[in-house]
Amino acid sequence: MSKDKPVQEQWNYSRYERLLSKLGVRRTVRGWCVRAAENANLPSRAGCCDECGAKAKYSRRAAVSLRMVGRPVPELRVSLCQECFVRTWHRTLWSVASGFFALAGGIGGAWVVFALWPHSAWVAMVVGSIVGSCLGMLMSWWIPGRVGNQGGWSGVPARIVESVEQGCTIQIASRILADRLMGTGIPVVRCEVVEQDMMPGICGGIGALVMVTTLLWAWWHPVVRVVNVGEQPVVVIVDGRTLAVVPGVPTEVSGAGEKVRIARGWRQLRAMKLDGEVVEEARVFVGHGKEQIYMPNSNGRCFRVEQRAYGRAKRPRPEVIELPSEKHFHTLEVPIDAWFEPNPWSGGNRWLSGGVRRVVRQQRCRPNPP
Ligand SMILES: [Zn+2]
Repeated sequence: MSKDKPVQEQWNYSRYERLLSKLGVRRTVRGWCVRAAENANLPSRAGCCDECGAKAKYSRRAAVSLRMVGRPVPELRVSLCQECFVRTWHRTLWSVASGFFALAGGIGGAWVVFALWPHSAWVAMVVGSIVGSCLGMLMSWWIPGRVGNQGGWSGVPARIVESVEQGCTIQIASRILADRLMGTGIPVVRCEVVEQDMMPGICGGIGALVMVTTLLWAWWHPVVRVVNVGEQPVVVIVDGRTLAVVPGVPTEVSGAGEKVRIARGWRQLRAMKLDGEVVEEARVFVGHGKEQIYMPNSNGRCFRVEQRAYGRAKRPRPEVIELPSEKHFHTLEVPIDAWFEPNPWSGGNRWLSGGVRRVVRQQRCRPNPP
């Protein structure tokens, strides 16, 4: 084996391996492995760069694989020339930049799906965010410093990969460094080394994107409680799309109503009887406040919020908030603890810290007092 040739050129790589290497996802290198204990006496510095052999100017610690982060590892310092040292920093900056592009692309993709199809399902938004994220990563393609262009993990030619009995395994992708360790009598064995520092990032990134998109989807599709106090069921239609059929519950029944999610923004709400007769139609803004309630077909019924303090909590004022009966869509700025049941007696127990409990009630409207 001639010394002047880089080690990876002495092996035949499959087309698949070459493609992955070109994409910067994963690079297979025939390198070396060292077993070293945590307190092993590894050579600290060298006169020439471990990556290219030029005059060394800096040294830095070996890279550490994700599963070894935070664990005790042997101290192995890699010597680097000016150029190779700068490259390790480019590689780190590239990781941060591509992560940022991927996140921005993911959120942008979810937003585009919501802007174009506000009523789209969660799955469509997740797909949009993954597509956006991939586009974002493609953008980071042209930033210099990507893995696969240069040797080593993050440009560092040695990485501590796993802990084994009596120490750790260190993978080495540089012949110079392997020779240097061998020169000090440390047993170095040849092995296949896989540089793969983008994969954990991609998997973690997709997981994070799905979570962020789920939160965004819930935020863009707030819950509205539809309460039908008529005798007959009504069909609720939002922007021409049938959303739910809500059975009629004329009397006050605990927990009555159906929770639906409606896309945030100005929406055309329409309630229809099953025979097609339109009960009412209104344009409302969905998405403000903590609770939203829509009660079509509720002429003659009055809704109110009752609040009661327990324990040492301050008595809320007013205790009853009447909801204007001429409107049938309400946005409440306070959280609601229960629907259509009275608050229990407070008991006047001052030993508990307590809190304020709020319920929504409904009843037949009383005629205005003269
Ligand atoms: Zn160098």
